[in-house]
Amino acid sequence: MDRALREELQSLRARDLYRELRWVEGAQGPTVRWRGREVILLAGNNYLGLADHPRVKEAAARAAREFGTSASASRLISGSMELHRALEEKLARFKGTEEALVFGSGYLANLGLIGALVGPGDAVFSDALNHASIVDGCRLSRAEVRVFPHKDLGALEEALEGARASRRKLIAVDGLFSMDGDLAPLDRLVPLARRQGAWLVVDEAHATGCLGPGGRGAAAHFGVAAEVEVLMGTLGKALGAYGAFVCGSKTLVEYLVNRARSFIFSTALPPPVLAAAIAALEVIEEEPERLAALRGNADYFREGLASLGLNFLGSLSQILPILVGRAPDALAMASELLDAGVFLLAIRPPTVPEGTSRLRASVMATHSRAHLDRALEAIGKAARKVGLGGGALRA
Ligand SMILES: *Cc1c(COP(=O)(O)O)cnc(C)c1O
Repeated sequence: MDRALREELQSLRARDLYRELRWVEGAQGPTVRWRGREVILLAGNNYLGLADHPRVKEAAARAAREFGTSASASRLISGSMELHRALEEKLARFKGTEEALVFGSGYLANLGLIGALVGPGDAVFSDALNHASIVDGCRLSRAEVRVFPHKDLGALEEALEGARASRRKLIAVDGLFSMDGDLAPLDRLVPLARRQGAWLVVDEAHATGCLGPGGRGAAAHFGVAAEVEVLMGTLGKALGAYGAFVCGSKTLVEYLVNRARSFIFSTALPPPVLAAAIAALEVIEEEPERLAALRGNADYFREGLASLGLNFLGSLSQILPILVGRAPDALAMASELLDAGVFLLAIRPPTVPEGTSRLRASVMATHSRAHLDRALEAIGKAARKVGLGGGALRA
C-alpha cells in the first residue's frame, strides 16, 4: 500500500499541490509562535480574538470542572445536556429564528442537513465556490446536483426552471465565501428562491460574528434572515469554540433531529466547547467594539493591498485574497513571507480554480496597526519578487 500511496504523493509534489502540516506553538492569537519565532497570523479564522479571550477560556474551564469533558453519547441517546439547550436558545435568539440545533462540526452539519432535506429524485443547486462540506453534502444526498457558476443568478434561475418537475429543490450557498471573501447576493437570491419554489441554505461559517448588525451574519446583513429557511453556521471560527449550528423553524429542527444522520449518529459536543461558545456570544453582545475593530482592520488592510497594486478580487470582508495566479508563485510568496514573520497560506487548486492560486489573508480584530503595517510591507516585497503589484493590477 505505502508504495502506491508514495507514488501518488510524489505526483502531488511534482505539480506543486503537496500539502503538509505546520505546527504552531501556543494559543491562536494575532501572532503565534512558529519554530520558536513569533509570526503575525493572517491565516486563522479567529476573527474576533475570542479563541484566546480570558472569559471564554474561563467558561470552558469551569464547564469542564462542573460538567466534565465529554457528552459521551449522541444527542438522542444520553448526550443532550443542559449546556446544549442553553447554547441552542442563545443561538436562536442571536440569529432571530424559532430554534437552533447544534452539530459536531460545520462539515457534519452540511453533510447532515443537505442529506436530510433532499434525496434521490430531488435537485440541489450549489454555487461553484461553495465550501467542500456543501459539495460533499450534495454528493452524499444522492439528489441531482446542479453546480452554477459563482453568483450567476441567471444561470441558477435557468437551472431551477429546467428542474421544475423535481419533488424538492434546494439552493445552497456560502453567505461569505471562504476563499474569495465576497458575499452571496442574498438580497436577490431570496426572492429568486421564492419565485422558483426552492428552499435556501445559507452557510454563515465566516459571516457569523463578522457581518451584519451585531455580527448576526450575511443574511442579517442583507435584512433577509427571516426569509432564509436554513441558516447554518459554525462555532469554530469567530466564536472561538468548535462545532456548528443550524438555525430555522421549530419544525426544521424537529425534522433534523429525526433525519440528519450526522446529528443522530455522532457524539454530542462536549461541555467545555458549549460553554466557550455561550461565553463567546455574550462577549460579542457586550463588546461591540470587537466587531468595529475587525471592520476597521479589514478596511485598513484592504487599502494597504490596494496601494501595493495587488488584486484582492474586490473583497469587502475580513477575508482578503491576494491573487497570484500560478501555484509555484503563490507557494514561493507564502514561504518567503513566513521567513519574514508573516503567516498566511497559499491556496491552490483544487481548493480554488486553476490559474487563480492566491494567498489568503484573514484579518482579526486583535491585530494591531503595527502588525498590519509589518505584514503589508513584507507582502509588497514578496509580491514584487514574483512580478506582482507595483500598480500592475492583474485580472
Ligand atoms: C469552515 C467551514 C465549514 C466547516 O466547518 P467546521 O466546523 O470547520 O467543520 C463549513 N462551511 C464553510 C463555509 C466553512 O468555511
